[in-house]
Amino acid sequence: MSGPGAHVESVLASYAAHSAESRGRVHVEAEAPRRTAFQRDRERVIHSTAFRRLEYKTQVFVNHEGDLFRTRLTHSLEVAQIARGIARALRVNEDLVEAIALAHDLGHTPFGHAGQDALHECMAPHGGFEHNLQSLRVVDELEERYGAFNGLNLTFEAREGILKHCSLENARKLGELGQRFIARRQPSLEAQIANLADEIAYNNHDVDDGLRSGLLQLAQLDEISLFARHAATVRAAFPRLPERRTIHETVRRMINALIVDLVQESSRRIEAAAPKTIEDVRSAGLLIAFSQPIRQEADALKTFLRENLYRHYQVTRMTNKARRIVRELFTAFWDDVRLLPNDYRERAESDRARAIADYVAGMTDRYAIREHRRLFAVGEV
Ligand code: MG
Repeated sequence: MSGPGAHVESVLASYAAHSAESRGRVHVEAEAPRRTAFQRDRERVIHSTAFRRLEYKTQVFVNHEGDLFRTRLTHSLEVAQIARGIARALRVNEDLVEAIALAHDLGHTPFGHAGQDALHECMAPHGGFEHNLQSLRVVDELEERYGAFNGLNLTFEAREGILKHCSLENARKLGELGQRFIARRQPSLEAQIANLADEIAYNNHDVDDGLRSGLLQLAQLDEISLFARHAATVRAAFPRLPERRTIHETVRRMINALIVDLVQESSRRIEAAAPKTIEDVRSAGLLIAFSQPIRQEADALKTFLRENLYRHYQVTRMTNKARRIVRELFTAFWDDVRLLPNDYRERAESDRARAIADYVAGMTDRYAIREHRRLFAVGEV
Protein backbone atom coordinates (compact mmCIF):
# COMPACT_ATOMS: atom_id res chain seq x y z
CA MET A 1 0.00 0.00 0.00
CA SER A 2 1.29 3.47 -0.80
CA GLY A 3 0.01 7.03 -0.83
CA PRO A 4 0.03 9.78 1.75
CA GLY A 5 -0.07 8.55 5.33
CA ALA A 6 0.25 4.89 4.31
CA HIS A 7 2.95 4.52 6.99
CA VAL A 8 0.52 5.73 9.70
CA GLU A 9 -2.16 3.34 8.55
CA SER A 10 0.16 0.35 8.14
CA VAL A 11 -0.40 -0.56 11.80
CA LEU A 12 -4.15 -0.91 11.21
CA ALA A 13 -5.95 -4.23 10.85
CA SER A 14 -6.46 -5.36 7.25
CA TYR A 15 -10.24 -4.96 7.63
CA ALA A 16 -9.94 -1.34 8.81
CA ALA A 17 -10.68 1.51 6.39
CA HIS A 18 -7.44 2.40 4.60
CA SER A 19 -7.15 5.75 2.86
CA ALA A 20 -5.34 4.24 -0.13
CA GLU A 21 -8.31 1.92 -0.73
CA SER A 22 -11.00 4.56 -0.26
CA ARG A 23 -13.86 4.51 -2.72
CA GLY A 24 -13.00 8.15 -3.15
CA ARG A 25 -14.79 11.47 -3.40
CA VAL A 26 -17.64 12.48 -5.70
CA HIS A 27 -15.52 15.29 -7.17
CA VAL A 28 -12.05 14.01 -8.00
CA GLU A 29 -9.30 15.92 -6.18
CA ALA A 30 -5.52 15.55 -6.10
CA GLU A 31 -4.28 13.82 -2.95
CA ALA A 32 -2.69 15.99 -0.28
CA PRO A 33 1.07 15.52 0.00
CA ARG A 34 1.21 14.73 3.71
CA ARG A 35 -2.29 13.93 4.83
CA THR A 36 -4.45 10.86 4.37
CA ALA A 37 -7.88 11.18 2.78
CA PHE A 38 -9.59 10.59 6.14
CA GLN A 39 -7.43 13.14 7.92
CA ARG A 40 -8.59 15.68 5.35
CA ASP A 41 -12.20 14.64 5.94
CA ARG A 42 -11.86 15.29 9.66
CA GLU A 43 -10.20 18.66 9.09
CA ARG A 44 -12.89 19.70 6.60
CA VAL A 45 -15.59 18.94 9.14
CA ILE A 46 -13.88 21.01 11.85
CA HIS A 47 -13.46 23.99 9.50
CA SER A 48 -17.11 23.88 8.40
CA THR A 49 -19.72 26.48 9.32
CA ALA A 50 -22.19 23.82 10.46
CA PHE A 51 -19.63 22.51 12.95
CA ARG A 52 -19.25 25.89 14.64
CA ARG A 53 -23.02 26.22 14.89
CA LEU A 54 -23.16 23.05 17.01
CA GLU A 55 -21.90 25.17 19.91
CA TYR A 56 -25.27 26.91 20.07
CA LYS A 57 -27.57 23.97 19.44
CA THR A 58 -29.45 22.04 22.08
CA GLN A 59 -28.56 18.55 23.13
CA VAL A 60 -31.25 18.19 25.83
CA PHE A 61 -31.12 21.59 27.52
CA VAL A 62 -31.60 24.72 25.44
CA ASN A 63 -28.36 26.60 25.01
CA HIS A 64 -29.26 29.55 27.25
CA GLU A 65 -30.45 27.36 30.16
CA GLY A 66 -26.99 26.97 31.66
CA ASP A 67 -23.32 27.17 30.80
CA LEU A 68 -22.39 23.72 32.07
CA PHE A 69 -24.82 21.58 30.10
CA ARG A 70 -23.77 19.74 26.98
CA THR A 71 -24.42 21.34 23.64
CA ARG A 72 -24.25 19.51 20.32
CA LEU A 73 -20.64 20.63 20.05
CA THR A 74 -19.42 19.24 23.37
CA HIS A 75 -21.54 16.14 22.74
CA SER A 76 -19.83 15.63 19.36
CA LEU A 77 -16.39 16.08 20.95
CA GLU A 78 -17.23 13.48 23.59
CA VAL A 79 -18.44 11.08 20.90
CA ALA A 80 -15.21 11.60 18.96
CA GLN A 81 -13.11 11.01 22.08
CA ILE A 82 -14.90 7.77 22.98
CA ALA A 83 -14.92 6.57 19.38
CA ARG A 84 -11.19 7.17 18.95
CA GLY A 85 -10.38 5.15 22.05
CA ILE A 86 -12.42 2.22 20.77
CA ALA A 87 -10.95 2.51 17.27
CA ARG A 88 -7.41 2.46 18.62
CA ALA A 89 -8.11 -0.58 20.78
CA LEU A 90 -9.53 -2.41 17.76
CA ARG A 91 -6.78 -1.22 15.39
CA VAL A 92 -9.11 0.52 12.97
CA ASN A 93 -8.90 4.01 11.47
CA GLU A 94 -8.99 6.73 14.15
CA ASP A 95 -9.04 9.59 11.65
CA LEU A 96 -12.09 8.22 9.89
CA VAL A 97 -13.91 7.41 13.12
CA GLU A 98 -13.24 10.94 14.34
CA ALA A 99 -14.43 12.53 11.08
CA ILE A 100 -17.70 10.58 11.32
CA ALA A 101 -18.18 11.36 15.02
CA LEU A 102 -17.57 15.09 14.57
CA ALA A 103 -19.96 15.22 11.60
CA HIS A 104 -22.70 12.93 12.88
CA ASP A 105 -24.93 15.72 14.26
CA LEU A 106 -24.21 18.49 11.73
CA GLY A 107 -27.76 18.24 10.37
CA HIS A 108 -29.49 18.72 13.70
CA THR A 109 -32.15 21.40 13.92
CA PRO A 110 -32.21 23.95 16.73
CA PHE A 111 -33.81 22.65 19.98
CA GLY A 112 -32.77 19.01 19.61
CA HIS A 113 -35.37 16.36 18.94
CA ALA A 114 -38.29 18.70 19.50
CA GLY A 115 -37.05 20.85 16.61
CA GLN A 116 -36.49 17.82 14.41
CA ASP A 117 -39.99 16.45 15.12
CA ALA A 118 -41.64 19.79 14.34
CA LEU A 119 -39.70 20.24 11.11
CA HIS A 120 -40.49 16.66 10.11
CA GLU A 121 -44.21 17.36 10.59
CA CYS A 122 -43.99 20.54 8.50
CA MET A 123 -42.11 18.64 5.81
CA ALA A 124 -44.39 15.59 5.82
CA PRO A 125 -46.06 16.52 2.49
CA HIS A 126 -42.64 17.32 0.97
CA GLY A 127 -40.58 14.21 1.67
CA GLY A 128 -40.09 14.70 5.43
CA PHE A 129 -37.09 15.88 7.42
CA GLU A 130 -34.58 13.55 9.03
CA HIS A 131 -31.56 14.96 10.88
CA ASN A 132 -29.39 12.07 9.82
CA LEU A 133 -30.04 12.66 6.13
CA GLN A 134 -29.63 16.38 6.78
CA SER A 135 -26.12 15.79 8.19
CA LEU A 136 -25.28 14.15 4.88
CA ARG A 137 -26.91 17.03 3.00
CA VAL A 138 -24.76 19.51 4.94
CA VAL A 139 -21.51 17.80 3.93
CA ASP A 140 -22.68 16.98 0.38
CA GLU A 141 -24.54 20.14 -0.58
CA LEU A 142 -25.00 22.95 1.90
CA GLU A 143 -21.50 23.92 3.00
CA GLU A 144 -20.10 26.67 0.77
CA ARG A 145 -16.35 26.48 1.06
CA TYR A 146 -15.02 25.43 -2.32
CA GLY A 147 -14.96 27.08 -5.71
CA ALA A 148 -15.36 23.90 -7.70
CA PHE A 149 -18.18 22.15 -5.86
CA ASN A 150 -20.87 22.38 -3.20
CA GLY A 151 -20.37 20.75 0.18
CA LEU A 152 -17.18 19.34 1.66
CA ASN A 153 -16.63 16.54 -0.87
CA LEU A 154 -15.88 13.96 1.83
CA THR A 155 -14.83 10.39 1.06
CA PHE A 156 -17.39 7.66 0.50
CA GLU A 157 -16.40 6.08 3.84
CA ALA A 158 -17.05 9.26 5.84
CA ARG A 159 -20.41 9.77 4.11
CA GLU A 160 -21.33 6.12 4.65
CA GLY A 161 -20.67 6.61 8.38
CA ILE A 162 -22.67 9.83 8.62
CA LEU A 163 -25.73 8.17 7.11
CA LYS A 164 -26.53 5.95 10.08
CA HIS A 165 -30.02 5.01 9.07
CA CYS A 166 -32.41 5.87 6.33
CA SER A 167 -35.77 4.75 4.99
CA LEU A 168 -35.85 2.40 1.99
CA GLU A 169 -37.59 5.12 0.02
CA ASN A 170 -34.75 7.56 0.66
CA ALA A 171 -32.12 4.85 0.19
CA ARG A 172 -33.30 4.35 -3.38
CA LYS A 173 -32.64 8.02 -4.11
CA LEU A 174 -29.15 7.94 -2.65
CA GLY A 175 -27.43 5.76 -5.26
CA GLU A 176 -24.26 4.02 -4.14
CA LEU A 177 -24.61 5.30 -0.58
CA GLY A 178 -28.15 3.97 -0.17
CA GLN A 179 -27.27 0.52 -1.48
CA ARG A 180 -26.46 -1.01 1.88
CA PHE A 181 -29.91 -0.28 3.30
CA ILE A 182 -31.50 -2.06 0.37
CA ALA A 183 -29.04 -4.96 0.44
CA ARG A 184 -29.09 -5.01 4.28
CA ARG A 185 -25.34 -4.73 4.55
CA GLN A 186 -23.29 -3.07 7.29
CA PRO A 187 -21.07 0.00 7.09
CA SER A 188 -17.37 -0.03 8.06
CA LEU A 189 -16.30 -0.83 11.62
CA GLU A 190 -15.41 2.85 11.95
CA ALA A 191 -19.03 3.81 11.24
CA GLN A 192 -20.36 1.16 13.62
CA ILE A 193 -18.01 2.45 16.34
CA ALA A 194 -19.08 6.09 15.91
CA ASN A 195 -22.69 4.99 16.22
CA LEU A 196 -22.24 3.22 19.56
CA ALA A 197 -19.86 5.89 20.85
CA ASP A 198 -22.76 8.32 20.32
CA GLU A 199 -24.94 6.19 22.56
CA ILE A 200 -22.27 5.84 25.27
CA ALA A 201 -21.73 9.60 25.22
CA TYR A 202 -25.34 10.72 25.48
CA ASN A 203 -26.45 8.16 28.05
CA ASN A 204 -23.67 9.21 30.37
CA HIS A 205 -23.67 12.94 29.83
CA ASP A 206 -27.44 13.05 30.16
CA VAL A 207 -27.14 11.37 33.56
CA ASP A 208 -24.59 14.01 34.52
CA ASP A 209 -26.58 16.95 33.11
CA GLY A 210 -29.82 15.54 34.51
CA LEU A 211 -28.40 15.39 38.01
CA ARG A 212 -26.73 18.80 37.73
CA SER A 213 -29.97 20.41 36.60
CA GLY A 214 -31.82 18.88 39.54
CA LEU A 215 -34.35 17.22 37.20
CA LEU A 216 -32.95 13.81 38.20
CA GLN A 217 -32.22 12.67 41.75
CA LEU A 218 -29.44 10.30 42.81
CA ALA A 219 -31.95 8.06 44.60
CA GLN A 220 -33.78 7.46 41.29
CA LEU A 221 -30.57 6.45 39.54
CA ASP A 222 -29.75 4.02 42.33
CA GLU A 223 -32.64 1.94 40.95
CA ILE A 224 -30.79 1.56 37.64
CA SER A 225 -28.32 -1.34 37.79
CA LEU A 226 -25.62 0.11 35.54
CA PHE A 227 -25.45 3.24 37.68
CA ALA A 228 -26.07 1.57 41.06
CA ARG A 229 -23.28 -0.99 40.57
CA HIS A 230 -20.63 1.65 39.95
CA ALA A 231 -22.02 4.06 42.54
CA ALA A 232 -21.71 1.30 45.15
CA THR A 233 -18.03 0.77 44.25
CA VAL A 234 -17.42 4.51 44.55
CA ARG A 235 -19.17 4.76 47.93
CA ALA A 236 -17.21 1.79 49.25
CA ALA A 237 -13.92 3.34 48.15
CA PHE A 238 -14.80 6.90 49.28
CA PRO A 239 -17.44 6.71 52.05
CA ARG A 240 -17.67 10.45 52.74
CA LEU A 241 -17.30 11.81 49.23
CA PRO A 242 -19.49 14.82 48.38
CA GLU A 243 -22.33 14.09 45.97
CA ARG A 244 -20.80 15.97 43.03
CA ARG A 245 -17.64 13.85 43.10
CA THR A 246 -19.61 10.65 43.69
CA ILE A 247 -21.55 11.37 40.50
CA HIS A 248 -18.42 12.09 38.48
CA GLU A 249 -16.61 9.01 39.80
CA THR A 250 -19.66 6.90 38.95
CA VAL A 251 -20.19 8.32 35.47
CA ARG A 252 -16.56 7.92 34.47
CA ARG A 253 -16.65 4.29 35.66
CA MET A 254 -19.81 3.70 33.63
CA ILE A 255 -18.23 5.12 30.49
CA ASN A 256 -15.14 3.01 31.03
CA ALA A 257 -17.14 -0.17 31.70
CA LEU A 258 -19.20 0.36 28.54
CA ILE A 259 -16.09 0.94 26.42
CA VAL A 260 -14.28 -2.09 27.88
CA ASP A 261 -17.31 -4.31 27.28
CA LEU A 262 -17.76 -2.98 23.74
CA VAL A 263 -14.12 -3.63 22.86
CA GLN A 264 -14.24 -7.16 24.31
CA GLU A 265 -17.48 -8.18 22.68
CA SER A 266 -16.52 -6.61 19.34
CA SER A 267 -13.09 -8.30 19.38
CA ARG A 268 -14.82 -11.62 19.97
CA ARG A 269 -17.21 -11.05 17.07
CA ILE A 270 -14.45 -9.87 14.75
CA GLU A 271 -12.40 -12.95 15.58
CA ALA A 272 -15.36 -15.23 14.91
CA ALA A 273 -16.28 -13.55 11.61
CA ALA A 274 -12.59 -13.30 10.60
CA PRO A 275 -13.00 -10.51 8.03
CA LYS A 276 -9.95 -9.83 5.85
CA THR A 277 -11.08 -6.64 4.18
CA ILE A 278 -13.51 -3.80 4.72
CA GLU A 279 -15.81 -5.50 2.17
CA ASP A 280 -15.90 -8.60 4.40
CA VAL A 281 -16.94 -6.29 7.26
CA ARG A 282 -19.75 -4.87 5.15
CA SER A 283 -21.11 -8.34 4.37
CA ALA A 284 -20.79 -9.67 7.94
CA GLY A 285 -23.39 -9.17 10.68
CA LEU A 286 -23.02 -6.33 13.16
CA LEU A 287 -19.49 -6.66 14.52
CA ILE A 288 -19.43 -3.72 16.91
CA ALA A 289 -21.74 -4.46 19.83
CA PHE A 290 -22.12 -4.66 23.58
CA SER A 291 -22.40 -8.04 25.27
CA GLN A 292 -25.98 -9.10 25.96
CA PRO A 293 -26.05 -8.26 29.70
CA ILE A 294 -24.54 -4.81 29.15
CA ARG A 295 -26.88 -4.19 26.19
CA GLN A 296 -29.81 -4.82 28.55
CA GLU A 297 -28.41 -2.54 31.23
CA ALA A 298 -27.73 0.24 28.72
CA ASP A 299 -31.28 -0.12 27.39
CA ALA A 300 -32.69 0.13 30.92
CA LEU A 301 -30.75 3.36 31.43
CA LYS A 302 -32.03 4.72 28.11
CA THR A 303 -35.63 3.95 29.08
CA PHE A 304 -35.08 5.59 32.46
CA LEU A 305 -33.73 8.75 30.82
CA ARG A 306 -36.61 8.87 28.37
CA GLU A 307 -39.23 8.59 31.09
CA ASN A 308 -37.60 10.75 33.71
CA LEU A 309 -35.48 13.32 31.92
CA TYR A 310 -36.61 13.78 28.31
CA ARG A 311 -40.25 13.71 29.42
CA HIS A 312 -39.77 15.71 32.62
CA TYR A 313 -42.37 18.46 32.69
CA GLN A 314 -39.75 21.19 32.75
CA VAL A 315 -38.13 19.72 29.63
CA THR A 316 -41.57 19.28 28.05
CA ARG A 317 -42.38 22.96 28.59
CA MET A 318 -39.24 23.86 26.70
CA THR A 319 -39.75 21.34 23.90
CA ASN A 320 -43.33 22.50 23.46
CA LYS A 321 -42.18 26.06 23.00
CA ALA A 322 -39.41 24.93 20.67
CA ARG A 323 -41.84 22.98 18.54
CA ARG A 324 -44.08 26.00 18.24
CA ILE A 325 -41.18 28.26 17.22
CA VAL A 326 -40.04 25.88 14.48
CA ARG A 327 -43.58 25.34 13.21
CA GLU A 328 -44.35 29.04 13.11
CA LEU A 329 -41.08 29.89 11.39
CA PHE A 330 -41.72 27.26 8.74
CA THR A 331 -45.31 28.40 8.16
CA ALA A 332 -44.38 32.08 7.95
CA PHE A 333 -41.77 31.38 5.26
CA TRP A 334 -44.05 28.96 3.45
CA ASP A 335 -46.83 31.55 3.31
CA ASP A 336 -44.52 34.28 2.09
CA VAL A 337 -41.11 33.35 0.68
CA ARG A 338 -40.23 37.03 0.45
CA LEU A 339 -39.45 36.81 4.18
CA LEU A 340 -36.50 34.51 3.45
CA PRO A 341 -32.96 35.92 3.16
CA ASN A 342 -31.92 36.40 -0.50
CA ASP A 343 -29.91 33.22 -1.06
CA TYR A 344 -32.62 30.97 0.39
CA ARG A 345 -35.32 32.83 -1.50
CA GLU A 346 -33.51 32.10 -4.75
CA ARG A 347 -33.31 28.43 -3.89
CA ALA A 348 -36.96 28.45 -2.87
CA GLU A 349 -37.84 29.11 -6.51
CA SER A 350 -36.91 25.53 -7.41
CA ASP A 351 -37.90 23.77 -4.13
CA ARG A 352 -39.69 25.98 -1.65
CA ALA A 353 -40.13 23.43 1.14
CA ARG A 354 -36.55 22.13 1.05
CA ALA A 355 -35.07 25.64 0.98
CA ILE A 356 -37.10 26.60 4.05
CA ALA A 357 -36.17 23.36 5.84
CA ASP A 358 -32.47 23.98 5.12
CA TYR A 359 -32.74 27.52 6.46
CA VAL A 360 -34.61 26.53 9.63
CA ALA A 361 -32.46 23.43 10.27
CA GLY A 362 -29.29 25.51 10.02
CA MET A 363 -30.39 27.89 12.76
CA THR A 364 -28.88 27.81 16.23
CA ASP A 365 -31.28 27.89 19.20
CA ARG A 366 -30.86 31.59 19.84
CA TYR A 367 -30.94 32.50 16.16
CA ALA A 368 -34.28 30.70 15.85
CA ILE A 369 -35.62 32.51 18.91
CA ARG A 370 -34.44 35.86 17.53
CA GLU A 371 -35.76 35.17 14.04
CA HIS A 372 -39.11 34.17 15.51
CA ARG A 373 -39.23 37.42 17.47
CA ARG A 374 -38.29 39.44 14.38
CA LEU A 375 -41.13 37.86 12.41
CA PHE A 376 -43.84 37.87 15.04
CA ALA A 377 -43.21 40.51 17.71
CA VAL A 378 -44.60 43.91 16.92
CA GLY A 379 -41.92 46.54 17.50
CA GLU A 380 -39.00 44.17 16.77
CA VAL A 381 -36.83 44.48 13.67
MG1 MG B 1 -25.36 12.39 18.64
